[in-house]
Order: sequence, then C-alpha cells, then structure tokens
Amino acid sequence: MFIAFEGIDACGKSTQIQLFAEYIKKRGFKYTTVREPGGTKLGEKIREILINEDMNSRSELLLFLASRAQLVEEVIKPALKRGEIVIADRFADSSVAYQGGARGLGVEIVQRLNDFATDNVYPNLIFFIDIPVEIAIQRLEKNQKDRIEKEGAKFFEIVRETYLKLAKNNKNFVIIDGNDDINEIHRRIVEHFELRTKS
Ligand code: C5P
Repeated sequence: MFIAFEGIDACGKSTQIQLFAEYIKKRGFKYTTVREPGGTKLGEKIREILINEDMNSRSELLLFLASRAQLVEEVIKPALKRGEIVIADRFADSSVAYQGGARGLGVEIVQRLNDFATDNVYPNLIFFIDIPVEIAIQRLEKNQKDRIEKEGAKFFEIVRETYLKLAKNNKNFVIIDGNDDINEIHRRIVEHFELRTKS
C-alpha cells in the first residue's frame, strides 16, 4: 500500500506523518517513509538546488520530476515489492498543485509528465491536510522560509484550490481538516486508513 500526505506549506504534514508512522509500527506493519523532493542521494542534491536557487518554472518542474523518478525506482518500487507500506511526504500531486496550478504550467501537462516520471506508480490513499492560507502564512512567518515558502497568499491559494479540485476527481483523496487539534487529526487519519485496509 502506498500512502501520500499532501498539503500547502506549514499544514502540519510532517507531524502527522510522524504520528502515523508510529501507529503503523505499533500495528505491526513494515513500512518505509520517503520525502519529496529528496529521499535518495540524487534527490537530496536536487532538493538543495530546488530550495536555494532561483529558476524558471519549467526547470523547477523537471527537477522535481527527476527527484521523483529516482525515488520511485530506488525506494518506492522495491519497498512495495517487499510488501511494505510506503508513506510519502509529498508526491506527484504536489507538482500538479504547485507547478501545474500555482506556477501556471497547466494541470494536464504536469499530470502527463508525472505518469512518465513515476512509471505510473501512484498512491492508493492520499491525505490532503487542508488549512486556510492565512493560517499557513502566519505559521510560516514564525519560521525561516525557503525560496518557495516565501511566495505570498495568492500563490498558496492557487496551490490549495488545485489540490481541492484534484481531490474532487480522485477517489483515493481524503480531505482532512488540518485546523483541528493534532491528536484529533491523527485519529481521523487512522480511521480512514483502517477503513481502507478493511475494504
Ligand atoms: O514539504 P516541504 O516543506 O519539505 O517542501 C519543500 C519545498 O518545496 C516547499 O517550499 C514546498 O512548497 C516546495 N514544493 C514545490 N513543489 C513541489 C513540491 C514541493 O514547490 N512539487
């Protein structure tokens, strides 16, 4: 089973992934966690470039895709073959929302390029942790920001709207209200996971 966590910056993904991974471990499942961009030696180098260098939007997209292609071949496919649960901190839908939506490259083209980069390996379950953009901006203001996190409210509005559109058309998406208490969010994620594993 392949599970991805998605959301705008500062939505609380990382905290929830940590809690979810602990839960999965306690349940006795074998699992692998990955993060995007990164997760492989090549991917971590690409992450450095993506976070620090200014670049054209198409170059940005292609770097994310290169990192993803490597991650799929090196980590995700082998883990799924071993029968493990793969938990991903961002995956293909991040590119659709950020580069396809907010950078204006177009949703369809990014989806086609994702098919190529992922070799059509996609999550069976995607948790979209949804928070209002104002909350994200408030949270980001407290931290040191990377190049993309410095984008304004308008950018993140488009990212969020694109995610919500994707969620409408993909039955694997589950929208989770990220504005709730941390433990309550975790409880709901677990509830959905258990529901899916039963069916
Ligand atoms: O989720 P995380 O904070 O690790 O992502 C690193 C940065 O890359 C963030 O600023 C995120 O918004 C950005 N990103 C992006 N496009 C993607 C994936 C991540 O702009 N496809």
